[in-house]
Amino acid sequence: KQARLRSFVDRPSASADGHEVELAANIGSVADLAKVLESGADAIGLFRTEFLYMGRSSLPTEEEQFSVYRHVLEKMQGKRVVIRTLDIGGDKELPYLDLPKESNPFLGRRAIRLCLAEEELLRVQLRALLRASAYGRLAIMFPMIAVVQELRDAKRILAEERAKLEQAGIAVSSGIEVGLMIEIPAAALNADALAREADFFSIGTNDLIQYTMAADRMNESVAYLYQPHHPSILRLVEMVIRASERHGRWTGMCGEMAGDPDAIPLLLGLGLHEFSMSASTVLSAREQISRLSRAECAGLARQALELGAQDEVLALVRNYIARSE
Ligand code: PEP
Ligand code: MG
Repeated sequence: KQARLRSFVDRPSASADGHEVELAANIGSVADLAKVLESGADAIGLFRTEFLYMGRSSLPTEEEQFSVYRHVLEKMQGKRVVIRTLDIGGDKELPYLDLPKESNPFLGRRAIRLCLAEEELLRVQLRALLRASAYGRLAIMFPMIAVVQELRDAKRILAEERAKLEQAGIAVSSGIEVGLMIEIPAAALNADALAREADFFSIGTNDLIQYTMAADRMNESVAYLYQPHHPSILRLVEMVIRASERHGRWTGMCGEMAGDPDAIPLLLGLGLHEFSMSASTVLSAREQISRLSRAECAGLARQALELGAQDEVLALVRNYIARSE
């Protein structure tokens, strides 16, 4: 089995009926890179940059960040690297920032909200990213966007930092893609407006599920509500993909759901373009997709969207998987 999986390292990521997708890996530190290179992933679909800021007593400098981003871009040799700007807040704290305590941190000043409130934080990171962009294929992704205005503000700051660097004669790639995570139901429901102003979406199901079901992803006592296969989640995913297609953009997914074998047939059927997951599951996902018919999965997804409960969706998918094995 292991040897069979290895044989997928340099195969294209495509379904049995020839529909191509991208299978990407998530990383949370430079140490994760070796596994990504081994996995044959087509890209890095989520680089969580929080590690640069955590476990230390002061903010990382522009120079420190630049050298990490540059290293990852160079190692990926022209494959796309989606780097997410700082997603701090919620359950992740930075003691040295001394931010006010909030009674609902997951609904508070987290991620892009904090970065727009403490703009210099974002400016430093964006400068490091822009400088690193000359060394590979960079995509920049903003987390926790709820409304179009946040995306505009982030993009304006990015454009300002780019202009300053260019004026100083520093090389910046002209091909940087700029996208956002869809993690908040309001963003999914308004995806058309967001798609007009972004190059891509990446659905962050870990948060999207928590916010859709109003169930804290860390709270055991409501874990039963954490339902990736719930039709409400599938409908949101579908809306986002359709909206991105209408505007000629692409949609990926970088939450845990993207690597779930029981979700992959549905996601393929819904037309998800990029699946980003732990490097350790990239090959099995590629193998699974190579056996699936995109056309059949589209029918399966349509059926799933008509159902009313996660159990029913799971039964449908598992039955389909069992029949096709
Ligand atoms: C997500 O919310 O699905 C996601 C990928 O981001 P994180 O898990 O870092 O919040
Ligand atoms: Mg998230």
